[in-house]
This record gives sequence, structure tokens and C-alpha cells, in this order.
Amino acid sequence: MRYSKLFLPTLKEMPAEAEVISHKLMLRAGMIRKLASGIYSYLPMGLRALRRVEAIVREEMNRAGAQEVLLPMVQPAELWRETGRWNKYGRELLRLEDRHDRDFCLGPTHEEVITDLVRKEIRSYRDLPINLYQIQAKFRDERRPRFGLMRGREFVMKDAYSFDADEDGLHDTYQAMYKAYCRIFERCGLEFRPVEADTGSIGGHASHEFMVLADTGEDTVACCTRCDYAANVELAPVTPDRHEGQPVKAESMEKLREVATPGRRRIDEVTAFLDVGPERLIKTLIFVTEDGPVAALVRGDHDLNEVKLKRALGVEESRLADEKTVMDLTGAPVGFVGPVGLAGNIRVVGDYAVGSLSNFIVGANRKDAHLVGANWGRDLPLPELYDLRTITPADPCPRCGGPIELKKGIEVGHVFKLGTSYSQAMGATFLDARGRERPLVMGCYGIGIGRTVAAAIEQNHDEHGIRFPMPIAPFQVIITIINIKDGEMVSAAENLYRVLEDRGLDVLIDDRKERAGVKFKDADLIGIPIRVTVGKKIKESGEVEIKSRTDGTVFIVPSDQASDKIKELCS
Ligand code: ATP
Ligand code: MG
Repeated sequence: MRYSKLFLPTLKEMPAEAEVISHKLMLRAGMIRKLASGIYSYLPMGLRALRRVEAIVREEMNRAGAQEVLLPMVQPAELWRETGRWNKYGRELLRLEDRHDRDFCLGPTHEEVITDLVRKEIRSYRDLPINLYQIQAKFRDERRPRFGLMRGREFVMKDAYSFDADEDGLHDTYQAMYKAYCRIFERCGLEFRPVEADTGSIGGHASHEFMVLADTGEDTVACCTRCDYAANVELAPVTPDRHEGQPVKAESMEKLREVATPGRRRIDEVTAFLDVGPERLIKTLIFVTEDGPVAALVRGDHDLNEVKLKRALGVEESRLADEKTVMDLTGAPVGFVGPVGLAGNIRVVGDYAVGSLSNFIVGANRKDAHLVGANWGRDLPLPELYDLRTITPADPCPRCGGPIELKKGIEVGHVFKLGTSYSQAMGATFLDARGRERPLVMGCYGIGIGRTVAAAIEQNHDEHGIRFPMPIAPFQVIITIINIKDGEMVSAAENLYRVLEDRGLDVLIDDRKERAGVKFKDADLIGIPIRVTVGKKIKESGEVEIKSRTDGTVFIVPSDQASDKIKELCS
């Protein structure tokens, strides 16, 4: 490809709207342009990188026995009604009507469509297992689209769905997918980690997320520094405190009294005002669920984990109550709510750690007041206790007791044992060897293609621009002609360009009428792994300079040996 002909609009300035480096660099390097919030056009450089990742994904999926299909993006509501997700999926689902007023949605994921296809075609255990995948644009009306391709509304995903006859079969398929994912992300040149993940409302089955470790990640991973335990903090269990619920001796109980805490709503404000540590306080958070209101109690220095809360309550939906609801339910504004004397219709649950507190401080359910010296049993009943808080570095590894470290990660892939929830809801069955009708046992496996490119840039860049890992680079080699008015330079460069292309490499030749400095800057920005400079040396000694964008290594080689050296560096 000739740079002079390539649609590659680079930007000199850092785009102000971009927060993370991959987004900035993808805009600056002319890879993507925004059409609307979370909706992007891929320019040639962006599309090339995307296609590279897709090619790796395809190879590994095919190798693992999956078969490629392409399912419709527009999906009829009836299918979603069968699984109950038409109502449950909420506002992330973009719904539309056709000219006959029939409901449709843009596919955010394809469990319904694939299960419908398979239930019509698969009859017998002899047709199993089967694993089908596609690479396609998904649409999710994300609440906060951001970070460019990292969290878009329209984004390219590889999604695979497996159908097995039984749990053992699913287990094998899941393992094969897990291994394929490891190979995919290794081949993309990413530093990643598979971590245990929440299985959501489907529950009970295994799930792993593939996390690219990066400070800008939106997920947090708890990693053991001693064993290989790693889990999304949404899931990582905190071992219960041994002292929970132990009765406090009557004589060591303080008197329960109400103190004025004017305008002190936040934990830090109350503790500063009363001059106590946050571990003496109990936070009371009111949630609204489909089963009614819930008060969740956690220690002042702990964070409530909403994923754990949902699981403990066994509810599908739970959200923090707004100001007005809190006032209506408790009679107190947010910040002054507490579990003592709470209205009877509110279910109270507590984190294990609150169970071992005595003489603690809680909101008084009255504006500008707290209660101090509260004790379980005497002032209020000990609530149902669960693991409700997010793990911290002060907690032990749930597997080996070793020290925990929290790291930020970008979820690039997700593998999930679905079991029979979809097949049962949609009547997707097969006949087993004894002629009995049984539900198909399913798994699903996603990879964010665009997010993977973004994550790779997040991990591979410097102050000058992108440093593409070779396997996903838009071009492998860029040939920079220092002066395109110099016939000798041009013919040497053109010659090398032909040879490299003939040898199967993807080469960009910078034949623009620009100064050398501009060309070098652009080459660094767009991050092509190998840069070959054809300049003065070609005239003096017949040599060219080969430079690695990854580590800056420079090789000076005679031009007739250049293609061998480059080929070697590219493989
Ligand atoms: P997240 O928690 O980041 O929203 P998710 O759990 O909703 O992700 P899945 O439904 O498992 O994601 O989708 C499979 C993969 O698709 C994810 O691992 C991720 O790589 C990618 N993905 C999901 N949502 C987006 C998005 N809004 N933009 C880009 N990629 C996405
Ligand atoms: Mg999501």
C-alpha cells in the first residue's frame, strides 16, 4: 500500500474528548472516527487491525472445532419473550418496530437466535456436540459508552454457543474454549489473566473472564500473590470473621444514646465529627428489589458489593433507592438511616463483619442524628449475615490464605457454562441414546474484537504512539523514503517494496512528499512494528536501516539482504 494513496488522517494534537490512551491513539493514528456516542467508523488502519484479530480468532475457533455462521442482527421480540429477557434485559436492549408494528431488537447477544436455530435442526445425540460461532456487530445501548472501542454501543464481537448432550460434554467443550482463548490472547501479544467470574442470575455454573491487566481497566481483579487464584472482585469471597454474632457481655455494653450530627451524612464526615474510626460505624444502604425493600449493612470502612448482595438475596433486580424512596421508607434522609427501629417491611441483611461489632454507631432514622453505643440483641436483632462486601488487600486469599493484590483489568473475553436455562425456556431438546428427550446443555463464549485491539494498544504504546504487536499490526513493515526526489532512493525502496510484498508481507511505503521528520513521527504514531529507512546510506554504502518499533533495535544491512532480515523479524 502507498501511503500517498492511503486514507489515513492522522492528528497532531491529543483529542480532548478521549480519556484513555488507546482511544486517543486510535483517533490520532486515523484508525477510527466517532459517528455518535459509542458508535464508530473504522478507517483502513483500524479495520486492518480489527481483521487481524478476527483472523486469529477464526483460526483458533476453527482449530478448536467450532464452526462459523452468521446470524441476523435484527431479532424478533417473540424469541426474547420466550426466555423472559424481553422484559428483563432493560434499556441496554435497543428495541424497534417494523412497518407491521411487530417488535424487534438489535442483537446485543445471540442466545435466543442460536437456540431457536438449533432446536429446529438438532434432533439426536448423534448430532452433538456442536459449537457455532460468528463475528458480528452487536448493539448494546450502554449507559455510559466511553473509551472509544473499549465500551461502545455498536461493537464487533465474536460469540460462540455450544450444545452438548450432558454436563461432562459441556465441561470438555468449555475446557477447549478456555484453551483456545488463552492461545488467542497470547497470539495477540497481550498480557492477560483468566479470572473466575460472576455467573449472574443464571448461577451455579462456571464462568471465566479474560482480563488484560491495565490501569485503565474498568474491572478489578483480586489476585493472590502466593497461589494462582484470581477472580473478579464481584465474586471473590471474603472469609467470614470468626467472632461474628458472639454475644457481648452486658457490663461492657455502652448505653445507647442519640447524638446530634448536623449535616454529617457521609462516613468520613460522621467519623471526623465524632472522632472515631470508620470501622466503628455501620453503613445502612437501602435497596429496592422485586421482592421489596432491603437494608444492607456493612462496616463503615468496607464497600458493599452489589453483585454479592443480589446473589445473597436471590433477586434478579436490585438498585440503590433514591432520596425520596429512602425518606418514604425510613423517615430519614440519606445519610441518617440506621437499622435500629427500622420499619418492619424492610428486610435487613448484614455483612459478616458487622456481626462481630459491639458499641457501634448507626444512623438514627432522624435527620441530623446518629445512635452511638448500639449492640446486637439488646437494641436490635442480629440480621441475616452474608458475605456482602468487596474483598480488600487486607483480606486473605480465599484459596490459600495468602496476601491479595487488587489489579485493574479490561475484560476482553468471557466463557460461560449456561447449562440448560435457555434450552429449557425455549424447548431445545434432543433424543439421547435411549430415546429420552433431554434439554441441550449449553455454553457461550464471547470476545470483544474491538476491545481487544484497544486493550493491545493500552498495553503497547509509548510517548510517540502505538507499538503494535506484530500479529495484529495493520501493516508489518513501513518503508520510509527519506527524499522522494532522489531517484536512487526511490528505486531502491520500490524494489524492496516489491520483494517484500512478493514474500507475503503487508507493507506500507511512505512515498509522500513530506519531510523525513514528519514521516518518522507518523510511522511512530501509527505503530508499524518494522520501519525500513531508505536514505543517504543507500547511496554511500548500498545499505538500509531496519528499526524495530517494539524495542528500538536498529540493524544496518545491505539492501540486497534487507528482505531476508525483515522476513526473519516478522516471523
Ligand atoms: P462488560 O462487563 O464490560 O459490560 P459484559 O459482561 O457485558 O462486559 P459479555 O456479554 O460477556 O460482556 O460480552 C462478551 C465480550 O464482549 C466482553 O468480554 C467484551 O470483550 C465485549 N464487550 C461487551 N460489551 C462491550 C462494549 N460495550 N463495547 C465493546 N466490547 C464489549
Ligand atoms: Mg456489559
